[in-house]
Amino acid sequence: MSKIKDAIENPDRFATGAWCQWCAGSTQCPKTTEIIDTILTDTPITDPDKIAEILSAEKAILERLKQFKHAAQNLLVSGHSIPGYKLVRSFGNRTWIDVDRVIRKFGKRKACEYKVLSPAKLEKTVNESGKKWIQKYTEKPDRGLVLVHNSDKRNAVRPAVDFD
Ligand code: SF4
Repeated sequence: MSKIKDAIENPDRFATGAWCQWCAGSTQCPKTTEIIDTILTDTPITDPDKIAEILSAEKAILERLKQFKHAAQNLLVSGHSIPGYKLVRSFGNRTWIDVDRVIRKFGKRKACEYKVLSPAKLEKTVNESGKKWIQKYTEKPDRGLVLVHNSDKRNAVRPAVDFD
């Protein structure tokens, strides 16, 4: 019996997690379908165990959405229409066709810029005392709180205690 068929027949034995992003059967996974159905209900979800189960399916849900968008794009490519959506051409940022030519035209002073290396890059090139100096003159901007799985190495923040 294939693993996918096994998953469909025994949804309770399967646990969603980061590994779902590599699962070839995620589009047919009954566990993911069950979790998506739960999210789509209007009832607010407050049970911590349910919330944990939904969060554990993040990769599988995103993968399902990615495949759904891919299928929608294929529909448009094949001439069907989807109300409110269209295909457009996507362009990257402009790049030089011939860099040497740019320098010849404008000179290095105008066309090139010097950048200070990031602390991490500079640290790779200096000795221990240089590393200490870098440590003293760097800071990590605080960008607020972020929800992560317990496997993340950072220390947990306890808002009720740490922000008192
Ligand atoms: S999507 Fe995740 S839970 Fe579902 S079968 Fe694949 S690995 Fe298992």
